[in-house]
Amino acid sequence: MQKHARVIIIGGGAVGTSALYHLALRGWSDALLIERDELTSGSTWHAAGNCPNFSTSWNVIKFQRCSTKLYAELGAKVGYPINYHVTGSIRLAHTRDRIDEYAHVVAMARAQGIDFTLITPDEIKQKYPFITLDGIVGGLHDPLDGDIDPSQLTQAFAKGARDLGAKIERFTRVVGIERIASGEWRVRTDKGEATCEYLVNAAGYRAGEVMAMVGSYLPIVALSHQYLVTEPIPDLAGRKEKLPLLRDPDVSYYLRQERDGLLLGPYEWRATPHWLDVIPDDFAHQLYPDDLDRLETYIEAAVARVPILGKVGVQRVINGPIPYSPDGNPYIGPAHGLPNFFQCCCFSFGIAQGGGAGKTLSEWIVDGAPEWDFWSFDPRRYTDYATKSYVVAKAIELYQNEYAVAYPQEERPAGRPAKTTPLYDRLKAKGAFFCARGGWERAAYFPRPGDPPEPKPSFRRAETGFFDAVAEECKAVRERVGILDLGGFTKLIVEGPGAEAWLDRLVCGRLPRQGRIALTWTLTAKGGILSEFTITRLGPERFLLISAAAAEWHDLDGLGQHLPADGSLRIENVTTRYGSLILAGPLARAVLGKVTEADLSNAAFPWLSAREIEIGYARMLALRVNYVGELGWELHAPMEHMVATYGALWRAGEAFGIRDFGMYAMDSLRLEKGYRGWKSDLTHEYTPLMTGLDRFVAFDKPDFVGKEALVKEREERPKERLVSLTLDEPGEADPPYCSPVFSDGALVGLTVSSGYGHAIGKAIALAYVRTDLAKPGTALEVQVLGRSAGARVEAEPLYDPGNARLRG
Ligand SMILES: Cc1cc2nc3c(=O)[nH]c(=O)nc-3n(C[C@H](O)[C@H](O)[C@H](O)COP(=O)(O)OP(=O)(O)OC[C@H]3O[C@@H](n4cnc5c(N)ncnc54)[C@H](O)[C@@H]3O)c2cc1C
Repeated sequence: MQKHARVIIIGGGAVGTSALYHLALRGWSDALLIERDELTSGSTWHAAGNCPNFSTSWNVIKFQRCSTKLYAELGAKVGYPINYHVTGSIRLAHTRDRIDEYAHVVAMARAQGIDFTLITPDEIKQKYPFITLDGIVGGLHDPLDGDIDPSQLTQAFAKGARDLGAKIERFTRVVGIERIASGEWRVRTDKGEATCEYLVNAAGYRAGEVMAMVGSYLPIVALSHQYLVTEPIPDLAGRKEKLPLLRDPDVSYYLRQERDGLLLGPYEWRATPHWLDVIPDDFAHQLYPDDLDRLETYIEAAVARVPILGKVGVQRVINGPIPYSPDGNPYIGPAHGLPNFFQCCCFSFGIAQGGGAGKTLSEWIVDGAPEWDFWSFDPRRYTDYATKSYVVAKAIELYQNEYAVAYPQEERPAGRPAKTTPLYDRLKAKGAFFCARGGWERAAYFPRPGDPPEPKPSFRRAETGFFDAVAEECKAVRERVGILDLGGFTKLIVEGPGAEAWLDRLVCGRLPRQGRIALTWTLTAKGGILSEFTITRLGPERFLLISAAAAEWHDLDGLGQHLPADGSLRIENVTTRYGSLILAGPLARAVLGKVTEADLSNAAFPWLSAREIEIGYARMLALRVNYVGELGWELHAPMEHMVATYGALWRAGEAFGIRDFGMYAMDSLRLEKGYRGWKSDLTHEYTPLMTGLDRFVAFDKPDFVGKEALVKEREERPKERLVSLTLDEPGEADPPYCSPVFSDGALVGLTVSSGYGHAIGKAIALAYVRTDLAKPGTALEVQVLGRSAGARVEAEPLYDPGNARLRG
């Protein structure tokens, strides 16, 4: 076995071999893949091989299309023929909500140049003559769907990689991993050791075992997934063309032609996790025993839909392990706290996503970040709360909802509550409906007496059941005063001699003076937005950095990797030590003034300043800043003082009409102010110049990461620009995430956030559009669930343009 490679990949399934191939393509052929058994012996060999482009996520469509494009040419390119049938597919719709979902997906796919169409029941029948159409209201057609032989695909990647100089060691088991003094990784196997600079975990459902070797935990669980293949069906024998793949998501199964038979695979309600303690050592190239009872109702439904399915018997059943993360997305990217250690594992659709995975992983290693911002795949999106119980609960829920309609706001119950603040029970007693963000429970909104206690997921505002309650919460904040328990903000203290100079070089903005606050970003070398921090200067060389709850591990790694080796600077994570109460609205000063002796006047406590204040028996940091655009404070009190502080504010606020508000109201309020959201609106695909945050960039600083790229971009003018749009008519629904924007019929942009602005009485969308169309007043059209809605670029912010209320 070779003793050293620049990169070692553990695992030779479709994903690991794709990673090896893509690294070799990038010139990184000093790469070694280690496989404990034969290639494909994990989940890959028995996969059904379906390769959809469809997803309800813009990024996942892009990711999967990257695979299908590659697969169409891979065999010829590497000289290894692959059976890849591009049959097209039909997805059935039983409900109007499903048609809503499809209409949005069609718009997204078309914006990416993929020719999805909504089709009628008659058109379904033409494409799929064996179908019965009872209860079907329409469907979606993807001409580029199909199925591939997963083993041939893996072998093709392996051949392509080997031909480029990469190496593969089969029947070699990784048994230990250590970080050595040089900073490299030592990989111990049953056949000897090898060292490497970069290590990739592509061990499929065994990826958790690999993490245990470095004393780390990965939220992953193997579920069993089954499909059956029928005996040959006479009606299919002799047909010239294969039937398109058929999916019936409202029942929850896929059905495709396999030779002259059919292959049926349900995502059944009785999801079955396996190996919660240990994976049998000898499990390779094996299956679980058949368990068709679990699938009975799905088989019956499929037979009723396609009666030829019931004409013949079952030839074989495949029941195999399929890895799931809590949200069903894979892990691709850096492992938290482990330098040069990358995950590329936990794929529930690793055949469809193998090509995209190899591209993304290789870009992480070679370029330091992938071309596309796949935060939803970043392993660090989950932090310490994602325990075994959490992943099992979430994975079961996800598997059962694999085909459920993807509504814009749906707060599913499994794995909750994971993290709560001390106010959780109190707010629950007040009727709060909660959502979880980065594992933290937060009030989404407070149903009013007579409102349903829980919302109904829907694309249409009026059907959700929370529109009026949220409107009242917004009104309270805009006209009186509101309070929100915003638990879980990531809070990092950076201190030590040289902290100022160190931070100054990392962020693109100017650092605040002592007692002041600044909003700023760290960037990639290409100028893309990496992290967003509200920085408060607590002392000459002491800073508090506040960022999103979900950003905790991401930001710890992002900052930590730049720390000087001499230990002079320290990053302390104080996230769980302090809670955050938001008190905002024109009467916020009056309320706060009742409970603290601190001078709250503009002269003593201006906008964007920070003071330590006392409320009752608690001392806390008060920041005169908020995300809703009103006079207000963020109160960062020690957790143990949260209940008393909230109680004091509530009692004082009652005379002023104080009201609890939640995340849904906050989102509406921030949209009216044009405030951007990290990873929804701000990703590393966009620079501060594209996002309209130019004024926050300190171009006169001698240097900061990304400066060179921004200077160049400023000279050349950014190609896109983030703008606030209002819709001419609110319509029934807000534009879902990534709704295409058109000008005179030409695609010119994409929405990111959207929602209804209750104070301005209009539907709002933030959208990236071509720079020449970013001028206020420009008329555009947005595709909202298949409807073209007139929209207008507005001067920002839509509400309180002079920020008089913030400064009030
Ligand atoms: C019934 C069924 C049907 C499916 N159908 C589809 C489908 O139609 N489309 C689709 O996209 N996906 C499908 N999947 C999912 C698909 O099989 C997986 O997503 C995919 O195979 C994952 O590939 P991988 O390379 O990540 O993992 P694997 O194929 O599991 O490869 C991981 C490899 O790592 C090796 N390994 C593990 N530990 C070590 C170690 N310590 N040392 C060395 N090597 C190690 C293993 O031996 C294994 O070969 C299906 C799954 C099931 C169960």
